[in-house]
Amino acid sequence: MYRIGIGYDIHKLIEGRDLIIGGVKITHEMGLLGHSDADVLIHALIDAMLGALALDDIGTLFPDTDPQYAGIDSTILLKKVYEYVQNKGYAIVNIDSNIIAQAPKMMPYIPKMKEVLCKILDVKPEDLSIKAKTKEKLDAVGQKLAIEANAVVMLQKRMKKMY
Ligand SMILES: [Zn+2]
Repeated sequence: MYRIGIGYDIHKLIEGRDLIIGGVKITHEMGLLGHSDADVLIHALIDAMLGALALDDIGTLFPDTDPQYAGIDSTILLKKVYEYVQNKGYAIVNIDSNIIAQAPKMMPYIPKMKEVLCKILDVKPEDLSIKAKTKEKLDAVGQKLAIEANAVVMLQKRMKKMY
């Protein structure tokens, strides 16, 4: 049995914050604003996994009013959500995702993001796609005021072992 989920996230770019996307620190004069480390790609991935299982979304699961999540490394949240996926008996088949940013260039960081995310989610590099897009200078993302991410995840119920 297969289940599919979609995730979307956006965070505002501000000065005085680190820019962390896909679990990787990116050199940039601005960072994303959020209660956690504001890792926009990981948040989209989490919502895609939760969506595939029709569970509560990331904001309900990890409320931004809860001090225990203040400044938290989003890879910790991703690990927790992947545990839910496994506990429900599912494994990840493949993931496709987009990071939409006018600046900085994401491309040089994608191999490292894949390394970090493949390790957490038990997927091979060929089963995890991260694409970098710009907004052609249109809207808030195009004007470098925000960064967006989308993700789609396919889950498969694991067969029970017969021995
Ligand atoms: Zn977020």
